[in-house]
Amino acid sequence: MTRNHKTAVELSQEWLKENTKRYAFKKLEREIIQTGACVECGSCVAGCPVDAITGERVESKYVPVLTGKCIACGTCYAMCPRTAILDTDIIGEYSNVWKVRALNDHKRQDGGAVTAILGTMLEKKLIEAAIVVGHSDDNLWLPAAKKVATKDELLTSGGTFYTHAQVIEQMVNCFKENLSNIGVVGTACNIDAIHRLQSHPGSVFNVDSKPPTAFKVSLFCMESFDYKGLAGFLKKESIDIKKVDRFAIAKGEFMVTVDGETKNWPIKDLDYIASSSCAYCTDFTGINSDLSCGNIGSDDGWTTVIVRSKQGEQALKLAVKEGIIEAEKIDDSALQAVINTARSKMNKRYKLKSPH
Ligand SMILES: Cc1cc2nc3c(=O)[nH]c(=O)nc-3n(C[C@H](O)[C@H](O)[C@H](O)COP(=O)(O)OP(=O)(O)OC[C@H]3O[C@@H](n4cnc5c(N)ncnc54)[C@H](O)[C@@H]3O)c2cc1C
Repeated sequence: MTRNHKTAVELSQEWLKENTKRYAFKKLEREIIQTGACVECGSCVAGCPVDAITGERVESKYVPVLTGKCIACGTCYAMCPRTAILDTDIIGEYSNVWKVRALNDHKRQDGGAVTAILGTMLEKKLIEAAIVVGHSDDNLWLPAAKKVATKDELLTSGGTFYTHAQVIEQMVNCFKENLSNIGVVGTACNIDAIHRLQSHPGSVFNVDSKPPTAFKVSLFCMESFDYKGLAGFLKKESIDIKKVDRFAIAKGEFMVTVDGETKNWPIKDLDYIASSSCAYCTDFTGINSDLSCGNIGSDDGWTTVIVRSKQGEQALKLAVKEGIIEAEKIDDSALQAVINTARSKMNKRYKLKSPH
């Protein structure tokens, strides 16, 4: 088959114009090749509609090099598996994005959407139990995943623990007890792990003739912290972790409230106590969830909720119908704030390592 260069250029330009910006090879070189994020797949070389890029061997490494005239069409950047060009590359597929506020007064971090929606699902028997977190017995603010089976129990579980929690073990324990519809709250990494289990042929989701289901609620997450590191950071600031009433992250600041008084630090001051695994994560919103929830994109006291599945849409609408939450569609600038934060997480991770 002969390649029609004109058609390829025109089609490519048309698609890029509709979907994204047009970038020159330089951007790919700067962000992906020079940083070491390049996977040496050659898709930029193969995709260039004017054959201006050549894959050269530099010692044993395959390096895309500009050997012709770049027409800045953006195809190489769009074809690269390491770039994120569409909004859905960054925050995943979704049907709607809302800002949500729970109307009942219960313990919460932001708008209380997570607790209110799961509470409605429990009450209406759409789930038999939910996996949330509480303080572990011996260490305050070290999260301990737990099963809650009633709305009243759930209402005491709101708030954010900035440390990894083992929610999946508890979910599987529920399945072992013959419960079959479980709601699970977790950070993107927890939700990805459940997604893995759901697609693995030998997992608890796939061995029974009547498999169990998990309704997955992801929490937006830039990073979580090592518990010992967090306690040590606070100690340096003369704060006893056991006395903390609330932790929060918003607008680039880490906030700690003790006895009604809130202290702030730029989040980058805590990078050194980030959990080591966060260096490998590029997913801010939890793209494999039914609902993704965070504060960015909404006013104080509201939760941004990204709806990704039919079950997620039904649960949110049911909570509105029951008068448990109020929900408004978020506007474009609010959604853009979510996308920008998610993009900054991706960029941060890709620029971690220097080329070798
Ligand atoms: C580690 C971490 C980092 C976060 N970073 C950001 C961020 O950078 N930007 C942003 O917009 N939002 C972030 N969030 C999400 C935000 O803190 C709120 O959880 C979210 O806005 C939902 O608020 P809500 O009032 O609707 O939830 P609530 O009704 O208060 O319910 C929160 C639920 O989350 C559960 N939970 C709390 N901590 C954990 C945990 N570690 N693992 C599993 N479940 C947990 C609670 O048990 C509760 O069920 C982060 C959350 C976590 C856990």
